[in-house]
Amino acid sequence: MTQILLIGGSDNSGGAGVYADMETVYGLGAKPTFAITAITAQSDHLFFHTHTVPSKTLKAQLQATEMNQVGAIKIGMLPNKESIGVVSEFLSEHSEIPSVLDPVFTSSSGGTLSSYEGIASLGSQLFPLINIITPNILEACRLTKLGCVQKEDLETLAHACRKMGANAVLVKGGHLPGNHCVDFLLSKDRGNCFFERKRIPGGTEVRGTGCRLASAIAYHLAMGYNIMESVDRSCRYLSSYIEERVQGI
Ligand code: PLP
Repeated sequence: MTQILLIGGSDNSGGAGVYADMETVYGLGAKPTFAITAITAQSDHLFFHTHTVPSKTLKAQLQATEMNQVGAIKIGMLPNKESIGVVSEFLSEHSEIPSVLDPVFTSSSGGTLSSYEGIASLGSQLFPLINIITPNILEACRLTKLGCVQKEDLETLAHACRKMGANAVLVKGGHLPGNHCVDFLLSKDRGNCFFERKRIPGGTEVRGTGCRLASAIAYHLAMGYNIMESVDRSCRYLSSYIEERVQGI
């Protein structure tokens, strides 16, 4: 069975982070394997605490992973510059394996997930080693120091991320107002494309959607789909997940 290596932080509420990644990967029919970067304590509404896993321990988890079984790598929370350094060294030794980075900086429960220095070093240290990055508008604005008020700005943000070294960028536009959610994909070899779907009422209440989308993209890349197909299939997977959750909330 294909394995997906999940590098990221744990969220004890189970709403986001590697537990959300794990659910996605199992749900799609692959096996997750883990390297934990931080342990966070949070509920759906409050952020209590975060503990950064020491670089030595993160490195040991990566060294212990049987990479010949891994079909793709998904990276989420990277708490500081040191953890980014460890992951970037690891990725440069495994450049043949497709990778997805969801650059997360804050949680909806109000916590800070990455240090200022960490965020500033992401472009130079990590972007060129990753097949696709998946920032939402807020993250893309923070990375590029640009603004975003309309659909067309998603393209500008994606091009700016590419200039920072990213090979492909999916800017998730769900924070823009309107009845539809629009994401923009810019990739090196496959051109660019808007993905548009009807907004699901109550969908913003569902946590961990960014984690789940990036994990689903990693799964589809591991299955041999190209970036465009992987994003398309993963967006449809996420919409069904959100619809199910909204009905259950
Ligand atoms: N907590 C952890 C550990 C995460 O990795 C993430 C996202 O990747 C979040 C929280 C943020 O999720 P949400 O915005 O749904 O709170």
